[in-house]
Amino acid sequence: MTKWCTTCDRPVDGDTCEVCGASLQEAPREPVPLKWKFFIVVTVIYLIWRLYQLISWLMH
Ligand SMILES: [Zn+2]
Repeated sequence: MTKWCTTCDRPVDGDTCEVCGASLQEAPREPVPLKWKFFIVVTVIYLIWRLYQLISWLMH
């Protein structure tokens, strides 16, 4: 079963990561990166919206 090294962010075959040497217990694909992506998308949309407001305010 393929495990996941959170330090290197890469799949690892076996109990020990051959890159950083960390011993891996399980392979949980945490939903945290997805939350971060969602947070970044929301932040970008908010910034674009504020930029649009600023530009429309400067035009008048
Ligand atoms: Zn590693």
